[in-house]
Amino acid sequence: MISIDLHSHTTASDGTLDPVELCQRAQERQVHTLAITDHDTVAAHHFLREQALEGDLRLITGIELSTTWSGAEIHIVGLNFPLDHKDLDMVVKAQGESRRKRSHHIAERLARRLPDWNADQIFQKVLDVAVEQQQNSRHGFTLKPDEVQIGRPHFARWLINEGRCNDMDAAFRKYLDNSKIGNLKAFWPRMSQGVAWVRALGGTAVLAHPGKYRMTATKLRALLKDFKLAGGHAMEVQGSNHPQSQVEQMARYCQEYNLMASQGSDFHNPDYPWVDVGRLPPSLPSNLTPVWEGWK
Ligand code: AMP
Ligand code: MN
Ligand code: MN
Ligand code: MN
Repeated sequence: MISIDLHSHTTASDGTLDPVELCQRAQERQVHTLAITDHDTVAAHHFLREQALEGDLRLITGIELSTTWSGAEIHIVGLNFPLDHKDLDMVVKAQGESRRKRSHHIAERLARRLPDWNADQIFQKVLDVAVEQQQNSRHGFTLKPDEVQIGRPHFARWLINEGRCNDMDAAFRKYLDNSKIGNLKAFWPRMSQGVAWVRALGGTAVLAHPGKYRMTATKLRALLKDFKLAGGHAMEVQGSNHPQSQVEQMARYCQEYNLMASQGSDFHNPDYPWVDVGRLPPSLPSNLTPVWEGWK
């Protein structure tokens, strides 16, 4: 079965495959259209533009922006914007600065609990983890330390390397969830800002994984209404491993708020096969307008 996957990550953010490896895996898994949507960076796309990829995978530009809305962290996926847009760099830089400040904050909070370390040392070690991950790339994908978008998964990996926890889940539970780390949302722009940025770049603004926010139906509807009125175009209706009942509910919201429908696996890591690139239901519910319909 051939498929379209519009949400995925590489070592440019917190994925474990480099951009070429991700494209290869996508093709092996019969994906014909792939959006790489790293957290707050388009470095994988710039890199891939210089590579001669085999096969005929259709690559869609993408980015997953961290934003906030009403006390919640909301992810906005921007799709199909021109990679050479003159303002793209401004958006990436703004998000990069927020992510850096936030990472220093996380390092400070961790240092209070790890007496052998101070915040600067932790920050440096975690940056090394992220940079090292790229240096293992077989395809020469490396970023300068100031271009790497580090996030909590990199902190988690460092904590595991240090023997402080056994796995990612434990690291998040013990050290990295919001009750341990404090208000991480405070570092991000508002959701409406994220939507405005994507629109300014000429892209399609998609509300990422609405089922993941654990909101009541009332709150989710308020979010969808604000997203729509902010100029949002589409919402993700299905991903890897979503229960059918959730897909049906999201499809109803999609119609109710007059949004287009998107789908993406949110693939990060081949070690987690239940979320794999292209692992999606065979088609979108037929009464929805796919987000790719209007793309040339
Ligand atoms: P950040 O962008 O720093 O907020 O990190 C969030 C990322 O961490 C998400 O995109 C997920 O990839 C990952 N993540 C969140 N919770 C967990 C968890 N419990 N175990 C493993 N990874 C997680
Ligand atoms: Mn992630
Ligand atoms: Mn996300
Ligand atoms: Mn994602």
